[in-house]
Amino acid sequence: MEIYRLQVLRTDASGMPLEWIGYQEAAKLYHLGEVAYSCGTHLYTLHGGINAKTGCRSLIEVNSIIATQHHHNKGYGVDPNYVPPLSNPALFRRDNNICLYCGQRFHHTELSRDHITPISRGGIDAWSNVVTACKRCNNHKAGRTPEQAGMQLLAIPFVPTHAEYVYLQGRRVLSDQMEFLKAHFPRKSPLHQRLC
Ligand SMILES: [Zn+2]
Repeated sequence: MEIYRLQVLRTDASGMPLEWIGYQEAAKLYHLGEVAYSCGTHLYTLHGGINAKTGCRSLIEVNSIIATQHHHNKGYGVDPNYVPPLSNPALFRRDNNICLYCGQRFHHTELSRDHITPISRGGIDAWSNVVTACKRCNNHKAGRTPEQAGMQLLAIPFVPTHAEYVYLQGRRVLSDQMEFLKAHFPRKSPLHQRLC
């Protein structure tokens, strides 16, 4: 069923966004009593087991955002030095599927990861040195810096915070989940403009 593909946004007890989970994982957390509270909108009603005494079936109501008591000690969200792993899907999403050289929007199959300072010139493979580029622009730039290639970057690359990274990983982010995540983005996050 289509609706079962919707993802649930899991947060810690303080409401810090942690990750996306499927309905089965959400049901497990409810079952284990790890859900502290839930917010957002109602997504699913899941049927649990039948109580032997009453013959009644238990129901689990799953919301779009659930806060869990289980504490992570990975430093998610709270560690200002947290650096999310770099991947092409997250990078393309950060840049809104727009080539940061020609400014056109492309399907992800037409996009590539460009190293602003090429690896061959000592550039690193990190968020701050990579941008989304269409294959044509990337081929044209080749092993040169933008200055050497006479190309201008349309935006400055940034390292996503954990909350921004959670958004970048979302498959189909619902509007209430979006609002919730945006409230955790840094005030100056470029994503505020890119998402409106
Ligand atoms: Zn381009």
